[in-house]
Order: sequence, then C-alpha cells, then structure tokens
Amino acid sequence: MNYHQILTDITKKVQTLSDRGTSASYIPELASIDVNKFGVYLKPIDKKGCGVGDFDEKFSIQSIAKVFLLIKAYKIKGKESWTRVGYEPSGDPFNSLVQLETENGIPRNPLINAGAIVVCDILLDLLPNPKQDFLQFVRKLAVNDAINYNEKIVASEAATGFTNIAIANLIKSYGNLNNKVDDVLDLYFHVCAIEMSCQELSKSFLLFANGGIIPETNERILSLSRTKRVNAIMQTCGFYDEAGEFAFKVGLPGKSGVGGGIVAIHPEKYAIAVWSPKLNKKGNSYKGMKLLELLTTETDSSIF
Ligand code: GLU
Repeated sequence: MNYHQILTDITKKVQTLSDRGTSASYIPELASIDVNKFGVYLKPIDKKGCGVGDFDEKFSIQSIAKVFLLIKAYKIKGKESWTRVGYEPSGDPFNSLVQLETENGIPRNPLINAGAIVVCDILLDLLPNPKQDFLQFVRKLAVNDAINYNEKIVASEAATGFTNIAIANLIKSYGNLNNKVDDVLDLYFHVCAIEMSCQELSKSFLLFANGGIIPETNERILSLSRTKRVNAIMQTCGFYDEAGEFAFKVGLPGKSGVGGGIVAIHPEKYAIAVWSPKLNKKGNSYKGMKLLELLTTETDSSIF
C-alpha cells in the first residue's frame, strides 16, 4: 500500500471542500490559530511513516490526551478504575453536566470532560509529582523528550473554563473527588494543553495498534486484554455525541480534541493523526473526519 500517494490524493480532495467548521474560540488562546493549517501523518507499526502538509507542526492535542490519562490510571489501578467512572458512551456533548446529576456524580466514561476530571483526581492520589510524572509518561509513549505543556493555553483555559469548573464542583458535591477542585482542574488543564505534531501523535498511539507494546522500544504498556478495552472505549466514546457517526463513516477507534486534531488506529497496521482546526458542531475537526472517511473508504480497510 502506497500510503504517501493515498494521503496526497485524499488531502487534495479534502482541501477542495469548503470548510464549514469554526475553531474552538471558547478557549481564547486556541482562537488565534491559523484555521488554514492542515496536516496528516500515518505511521505503520513496522515501516517508516509518511505525512502531508503541516504534519510536523505542534498543536494543542486537547482531549486526545484523555486517552493517555486513562491508561496511566488503568495501568496502576486496573479494574478498580471503573468504580468511579464508567465505560458507556454518553451521547451528550463533551462538556455536558446533565448526566452527572441523574447518575450521582459518576461520569459515563473517561473521554468526556467529567470523566477525565475524575481520572485527574485518581492520579493526584497516585502520583508523587502528578504533572511531571504524567508528562514523563507521555514522553515515554511518544519516545520523545520534547513533548511539553503549553502554559499559555493552560492559563487561557483556566481563565475561561467556567463549564469545567462547574463540572468539577458538581462531581465534588457528590463525593467523587478526593482532592481540591482547583488542584484537580490544574492537572486537567495541563493535560489538555499538551502539544504534539501529527507525526509525534501518531507515533504515541502506535501501542494501541500493536497490542499494547510500544514498537520502537518494545516496552509493554498494556496487556492485550486492556488494549482491547481501551480501543473499545475510543471507538464508542472517542467522539462525544458523534461516536456513532465516526464508527459509521470511518470505522476505526480514535479520539478527537477541540484543537482540531484526530488520532485513529488500525489494529495491527498503523496509527494516523490529522490536524485541521475548524470544528463541526459536535466539536470534531470537520476536514479531519472527512479525510479519515476517505482513507478507510478508498483503501477498503477498517476494523469492520
Ligand atoms: N480542554 C477542553 C475542554 O475542557 C477539551 C475539550 C476537547 O478537546 O474535547 O473544554
């Protein structure tokens, strides 16, 4: 399969579409990004990767980092992780408070804001230096020490994150946060403010395509069984209330973020990351979704 040729062809097709999305202006620092940026990088498990466009430019991975957060907690707590957060799709927007009230402060899954906020609380109890330890973990997955938090984005989100502040307070009122709301949100805003390029992001997700092992270092991060479970959560919950649409049109487990990034994996084959800042109404990259739909359609290859 000549992936470089395929990516070049489908990028051309996607670039001719009029981009109907808008960037995530509710985080002021993200609003200033050039919305015409477009990058894609595909990394096969055992071959050199290839990219098109702005694939080596760093962007804010936002909610994509919730997958790293989940596996960090899952590695330490195992199945006990599921007592404070569920694994069912929410069918609601990423920042919804609605179910928290009817479900006693137990978020539906770890890939919506409420769920990731609870996982941050779990990690605050488990890690001696939570922000530094988490960043080191992400650097290990990416096999790259040049991964960092963008402090400007942290500050921007902390100043305007009223919905997340409300979510954390509601969860706390149900007794499902052990730590102070401010400390939990400080970790949460940092996690969302990790920056990576498409090239770095695809590499850091390769373990999910490779049965839980980082191909470059041969280090096992998750068992086969846990890898299956995390991939299932990405498939059913990775795109908020558009998870069904993504499964229907793309057919790969993945995760999106409001920075305009989407990462997806094809088990035993590759990880792919795409970045285009304009988002559709559900908060997923408009062109990124289109590109992945074209990829699996034109290569006749998805998990289904
Ligand atoms: N930091 C963003 C928020 O909490 C993450 C949302 C996302 O990427 O889906 O609103």
